[in-house]
Amino acid sequence: SYRKGGYHAVRVGDSFNGGRYIAQRKLGWGQFSTVWLAYDTRSSNYVALKIQKSAPQFAQAALHEIEILSAIAEGDPSNSKYVVQLIDHFKHAGPNGQHLCMVLEFLGDSLLRLIKYNHYKGLELNKVREVCRCILTGLDYLHREVGLIHTDLKPENILLLSTINPSKDPIRAGMTPILERPEGNPNGGATVNMIEKKLKQRARRAVARISNRRGSMGGIVAAEPKPERCLNGIDVRCKVVDFGNACWADKKFAEEIQTRQYRAPEVILQSGYSFAADMWSFACTAIELATGEMLFTPKGGQGFSEDEDHLALMMELLGKMPRKIATSGARSKDYFDRYGDLKRIRRLKFWPLDRLLVDKYKFSDADAHDFADFLSPLFSFEPEKRPTAQQCLQHPWLNVDNLAQDVVENESSIGNINVSMNNLQIKVGK
Ligand code: ADP
Ligand code: MG
Repeated sequence: SYRKGGYHAVRVGDSFNGGRYIAQRKLGWGQFSTVWLAYDTRSSNYVALKIQKSAPQFAQAALHEIEILSAIAEGDPSNSKYVVQLIDHFKHAGPNGQHLCMVLEFLGDSLLRLIKYNHYKGLELNKVREVCRCILTGLDYLHREVGLIHTDLKPENILLLSTINPSKDPIRAGMTPILERPEGNPNGGATVNMIEKKLKQRARRAVARISNRRGSMGGIVAAEPKPERCLNGIDVRCKVVDFGNACWADKKFAEEIQTRQYRAPEVILQSGYSFAADMWSFACTAIELATGEMLFTPKGGQGFSEDEDHLALMMELLGKMPRKIATSGARSKDYFDRYGDLKRIRRLKFWPLDRLLVDKYKFSDADAHDFADFLSPLFSFEPEKRPTAQQCLQHPWLNVDNLAQDVVENESSIGNINVSMNNLQIKVGK
């Protein structure tokens, strides 16, 4: 893909936008772009530099994303809405053509990687709660103030505010930025491997530096901390990213939106979608964070399609779709008969959400009940009946006093006087 119309090849130390940004290392890539950690010499900050492929269709997509990201940034000057902030954009001419570039605030790992690090076991409910608050604050802002539907909400598109792994986080590691191409680079001399090696050395030194600062390691280079251990005690905050597919509620581009597993029923049936489609994806994401597994993983089979399997899975969890809704979409006839029954999948095994959480994921009855109480309304087949992000933010599940909750749990489960005494002190101190 590094040819005419494709990606722009970047080397460590390359400069962009008249020398303002200097490439440090590659962060990731997508279908349309490569994303680099860059140093902003004007603000003395690290940023994420997204360099789009150059062919016209990619440039067009980048212009769309820039328009949307600009509207988002404009409405949120204090950058407090848990949505990624666009800092700058410009064109960069390279051997493969003109590349539109977006400069975004530098964020950490995605929630998908967090789930992987946790060995697909799911995160603690208090962490899920914090993450949900961030996502909902972001969605409420996008929906109500900007008028945007994200259309591709999923764990991969939610990034942590800081990386979990300090040796990969130049901000926390206090790394000095690279300001020019390392010696010998590019044509002859140092190879990419040598540069990588140098970067790793610097990162290790930086980690050792912060360990020393804390006085914990006494000069010994700290081993890379295991991510799950790093999570302990971290305030898990995150931001919504990837607006490449976002659309205005009153100006849609595509009939089919969303990644399969997070797709809302009205999108499958083509009965018209709006903000509530994001709320469905949000609920799927919340469950996945808590259980470590995707909620719906439909597969096509003998005589039935992936779509029909998906609808069947939804009904097994949520009950039968009301006939009026099942039969009202442009594609309803592909899946449902006129009684509102699936045409090819006749027998459904009903397994409601709170039971699933208890039986399969070993939630306590109380946790399952409370979590399901929060999410069930979002799984309404009727989009109009789903709560808005604003309404979700008012739900008791997001607003319990965590400490008070812990005290009650400890006292009842341990029943130990010392514990109660300690908690009493905490209560008084608070
Ligand atoms: P595409 O539109 O080409 O799919 P994305 O916007 O999804 O590109 O970005 C590709 C990858 O780059 C992401 O999966 C992520 O790993 C990384 N990335 C994107 N934006 C940021 C950011 N602001 N901070 C850190 N990494 C980012
Ligand atoms: Mg992407």
